[in-house]
Amino acid sequence: MINTKLQDAINKQINAEIYSAYLYLSMRAYFASNDLPGFANWMYVQALEEFTHADKFYNHIISRGGKVKLTAIDAPETNWKDALAVAENVLSHEQKVTGLINDLVNLATDEKDHAAKSFLQWFVDEQVEEESNAMEMVRKIKMVKNDPGAMFMLDKEAGARVFVPPIAKGA
Ligand code: MG
Repeated sequence: MINTKLQDAINKQINAEIYSAYLYLSMRAYFASNDLPGFANWMYVQALEEFTHADKFYNHIISRGGKVKLTAIDAPETNWKDALAVAENVLSHEQKVTGLINDLVNLATDEKDHAAKSFLQWFVDEQVEEESNAMEMVRKIKMVKNDPGAMFMLDKEAGARVFVPPIAKGA
């Protein structure tokens, strides 16, 4: 059984993960409207991954006899200066999410909830990957942003990213 403190904190994290998906869908729309369909695809895959993160938290609460409470999602930004500004926003957002995950680990530690700690470890590792991906995107865009031909190729590369759905529980 999960305690109320952790249940409430994880419910908040479900909201944060869906907000991430919402923000990334907004970035997808920005790229789609600015002739960068590959980057739009990259953000779409990113958004779908965020929904699977929300789902992991959902399943953790349910499987431990807790109660899931979904709350209103804030509206994301809709406009950015350029592709680099979007990538930098992805990075700063993921750094913020890393902080939220660390706060959850600290709470699980304080509450001596070893099941939650073990569960959260996946997210600790995932955030290393998320920040690394975002840093790579920032770096690449910085390299090519003034070269339309290179930008075209980078967009093409981003267009190759595919969403790999996690194996459904009990399917
Ligand atoms: Mg996430």
